[in-house]
Amino acid sequence: MSMDGRTCVITGSARGIGRGIAEYLGEEGANVVINYRSSEGAAKEAVDAIETAGGSAVAAQADVTHREQVEHMREVCHEAFGPADVLVNNAGITADKQFTEMSREDWDRVMDVNLGGMFNCTQEFYDDIWEAEEGRLINISSVVGKQGNFGQANYAAAKSGMFGFTRTIALELAQGGSTANCVAPGFTRTDMVESVPEKVLDRIIAGIPLERLAEVEDVAALVRFLAGEESSYITGEVIDINGGMDL
Ligand code: NAP
Repeated sequence: MSMDGRTCVITGSARGIGRGIAEYLGEEGANVVINYRSSEGAAKEAVDAIETAGGSAVAAQADVTHREQVEHMREVCHEAFGPADVLVNNAGITADKQFTEMSREDWDRVMDVNLGGMFNCTQEFYDDIWEAEEGRLINISSVVGKQGNFGQANYAAAKSGMFGFTRTIALELAQGGSTANCVAPGFTRTDMVESVPEKVLDRIIAGIPLERLAEVEDVAALVRFLAGEESSYITGEVIDINGGMDL
């Protein structure tokens, strides 16, 4: 089964994990909405890459923390491809500090993007997903939401918050036949992880049974499965993809 003709909106998809998901879904025949906040050039490159591979894509600028910008993204999606079948809430940020040094602003910023952005996008695309044949909501959480991580009290709280949200929306969407799931990746090779000092990364890798970081393609392949018809009886789950970190 392919993703032919299914319309997928992926937030924060000009780079990193979101970009990997967008290109994977595009190559499988989906119509892809590439959302970006500030990476306009990279968003255009992502559209080109998908079109060169024979797929269809459109770029939509929107800061997910601003509801009216998310509304605009929905209009771009509808104009280009019609209603969305799949929404992937991927946009996320960190603002790491040991808790005693963490400001309320560090806390609010991380909540605003990771949880507030998910709220805005899910509400804006809810009717599309409800009405879609096999609609899908996929939220990109983190292993940190399960295990916690030194210096990431704000991020861990936001990523755990995604679990409860996803389970609840799964219940509410179920009557319409659509599903909602969370993906919880371990440390994945993107800009977010590039800022981690080499020594710390070595220690992290030493604690991963599969002895490597995830690549964006690893996460994208799982999202592809959840986005397709093959996953129609899975809902409300948090699916780990972390090289065995919690074994
Ligand atoms: P990244 O390389 O830092 O990229 C972050 C993406 O989020 C960018 O595309 C950025 O868009 C977008 N973004 C940030 N704030 C936004 C906003 N307000 N509105 C719209 N887009 C916004 O991060 P990543 O590593 O790919 O992470 C993607 C997701 O996976 C995040 O939710 C992260 O928490 C989660 N995750 C990452 C890892 C990891 O190890 N990398 C592990 C587990 C989970 P612009 O560039 O356009 O600003």
